[in-house]
Amino acid sequence: MAIINDNFLRLTDSYLFSDIARKVDAFTRCNPNIHLIRLGIGDVTRPLPQACIEAMHRAADELSNKSTFHGYGPEQGYDFLIEAIIKNDFEHRGIHLSQNEVFINDGAKSDTGNIGDIFHKDNTIAVTDPIYPVYIDSNVMAGRAGIPDPDGRWSNITYLPCNEGNKFVPQLPQKRPDIIYLCYPNNPTGTTLTATELKQWVDYALKNNSIIFFDAAYEAFIREDNVPHSIYEIEGARKCAIEFRSFSKTAGFTGVRCGYTVIPDEVTAYSSDGKSVPLNKLWLRRQCTKFNGTSYITQRAAEAVYSQEGKKQVKANIDYYLENARIMREGFHNTGMTVYGGKNSPYLWLKTPDGSSSWQFFDTLMNRAHVIGTPGVGFGPSGEGFLRLTAFGSREDCIEAMNRIKQTYDN
Ligand code: PLP
Repeated sequence: MAIINDNFLRLTDSYLFSDIARKVDAFTRCNPNIHLIRLGIGDVTRPLPQACIEAMHRAADELSNKSTFHGYGPEQGYDFLIEAIIKNDFEHRGIHLSQNEVFINDGAKSDTGNIGDIFHKDNTIAVTDPIYPVYIDSNVMAGRAGIPDPDGRWSNITYLPCNEGNKFVPQLPQKRPDIIYLCYPNNPTGTTLTATELKQWVDYALKNNSIIFFDAAYEAFIREDNVPHSIYEIEGARKCAIEFRSFSKTAGFTGVRCGYTVIPDEVTAYSSDGKSVPLNKLWLRRQCTKFNGTSYITQRAAEAVYSQEGKKQVKANIDYYLENARIMREGFHNTGMTVYGGKNSPYLWLKTPDGSSSWQFFDTLMNRAHVIGTPGVGFGPSGEGFLRLTAFGSREDCIEAMNRIKQTYDN
């Protein structure tokens, strides 16, 4: 008799997006002539940069010819992409990485979820709240989370609230965790940490022998100087941090699928008998067993992100989204609403007016302004009283949505 991993049965079903879909569906059936503007989407809408498209075409042609054909590639990724990443994403920031420290993958979701494979199930975890749900669910699957309370908090996970009271800067945990998840610029709040704030976390991790999982999937949206793009800008981070990056939001690769993980040689954890073990070697072993590499065509497309043309096109796309975010931020300010994020991030974190709940505000916005957001409580208990909006829509929709919201709340 085969026995399942019972931890999967502990997972609470995530109803967030299906509940939204159900409400939107009911509204549209009753109001077929009303165009709802969807500002809840977490997916990009602009097409891939032309440089990436051309690189994919060239790579496809190579595969059609016997002399230039590529079959299985290196599990860790092709040198041409790893070299481009090290040179363009790190070296000019004074960060020196060796080729073996970068692992190409099929997107950050896989590795932020899978990294737990190389850690014991008894490690203690700390997460910021609200949070990208993959961090928690993957720990539930591994049996690391304990049991959930009625608010959805897991007994073995330390939640670090990020709210208006602490300006969305999490406080250092009172009880030492083995592993700390940080995501900056943050999904869902759109807020960031300064170098000084991030340094406190690196210092804490070094002092307490904790490992930081740093998710920098939205790094390309950073425009302010004092916001670090990589945790390795902070002294000492090479000894305690793993960083996750993605081409999804940077270059529109949500459907193409490519990202990478950095594990410096110095970052170590302990075997059960107390020996210090480099995580880089362990992850390489894990990847060589369970992952057969990202496709050649995809890696050539990712390489093109760093070409002269690619850089310009990527910047133009991100500037477009950031301008949407600026228009939305200003629109909310003009309407007297309180909004966070949207400066170094495609996400805006809108406070519900009059103390209404996330879902009440979702309903009001849908029924009266015909605008759809994502209830903040869906990202964790500290998200209650907020709505997440994204700047990934079209310019026209952003402007129209702000007009509608202004009309709704000015009356
Ligand atoms: N990390 C965060 C914080 C995200 O918001 C997302 C996607 O929305 C990911 C990782 C996953 O990105 P990818 O498309 O690279 O798997």
